[in-house]
Amino acid sequence: MNTTKILSAENTGAGKQPLLIAGPCSAETRSQTLGTAQAIAAHFPDAIFRAGIWKPRTQPGSFEGVGVTGLEWLRAVKLKTGLRTATEVANAAHVEACLEHQIDLLWIGARTTVNPFSVQEIADALRGVDIPVLIKNPVHADLALWIGALERLSRAGIKELGAIHRGFHQADTQPFRNAPLWEKLVELRTRCPEIPVICDPSHICGNTALIPYVSKHALDLGLDGLMIETHIVPQQALSDAAQQLTPAELQMLVSQLRLRSKTSPADDLLQNLRGKINRTDEQLLRLLFERMKISKAIGNHKQQRNLAIVQPSRWEEVLGQQLQLADALGLKPDFVKEIYTLIHEQSVKEQMDD
Ligand code: PEP
Ligand code: MN
Repeated sequence: MNTTKILSAENTGAGKQPLLIAGPCSAETRSQTLGTAQAIAAHFPDAIFRAGIWKPRTQPGSFEGVGVTGLEWLRAVKLKTGLRTATEVANAAHVEACLEHQIDLLWIGARTTVNPFSVQEIADALRGVDIPVLIKNPVHADLALWIGALERLSRAGIKELGAIHRGFHQADTQPFRNAPLWEKLVELRTRCPEIPVICDPSHICGNTALIPYVSKHALDLGLDGLMIETHIVPQQALSDAAQQLTPAELQMLVSQLRLRSKTSPADDLLQNLRGKINRTDEQLLRLLFERMKISKAIGNHKQQRNLAIVQPSRWEEVLGQQLQLADALGLKPDFVKEIYTLIHEQSVKEQMDD
């Protein structure tokens, strides 16, 4: 088993391989837990195996985790695969049970980080214990609450402390389950430069399609690792089925990401600017999506009134207006004309498709 301290300065940061935390959203059965762990260990012997034992669910009656039995399965994972293990704790009793079962890393979930009483209870239960702890961002984008939770654990004497970025709930999160709000992350990095940050693309995305995109952004920002939900048969998962990868998909993802050592020291300005670019690109795409929706609505309207789809005078008016604005902003007219021509062509196509 890898015995380096998981979140120590020597194990994270410049020159180090980003951490990989992988495993199912929930431990469901012994064979599902061990089967997933063995498949992960075959490719990633240094990974940390995650599995939720106590699941915070929105609706009562949903699968709420197997409880302490699952800790026995995690012990078996350690023995049989050599992987280190991690699970979520939400109160002092969870902490006690995990310590009894030699869990290697604990994380505090997004729904717990929002509650300072719960975070303090966990911090008190961990006083004097030498174990790495990761704190997920609170459900909503309150940076002070996230930093406050890190401080509570730090004051309780936890030396190996890190953060997990799992996205934020807000009115509009499309196309994500939880909006990444990269600028919040850059702010956390600026305010707490010594805290390693792991990105959790699974809970940001809510599906598997965008996981490569989010993972790459996270690594481009110089984050210290990824937590990726991985299940031996995702379709049968009792929680978060839509967002879990198979171990083979995990291997493919990591090989495409080239999860390589970070060679240059963190460049704060570059990371800051890249965060802004990522955020702006996301906004651009979101606006294009909105614009196409409006085009479609116009298309339906034209169809009902039997109006022609392309009305050249309207197009000239749109382009003329944008070129004036572009000029005032100092943007090259050729560039703006080219972009608007493409957007207009696509709008016409969308209207034709109806
Ligand atoms: C989880 O990791 O399975 C989980 C419940 O995540 P979060 O706290 O980010 O919702
Ligand atoms: Mn989950």
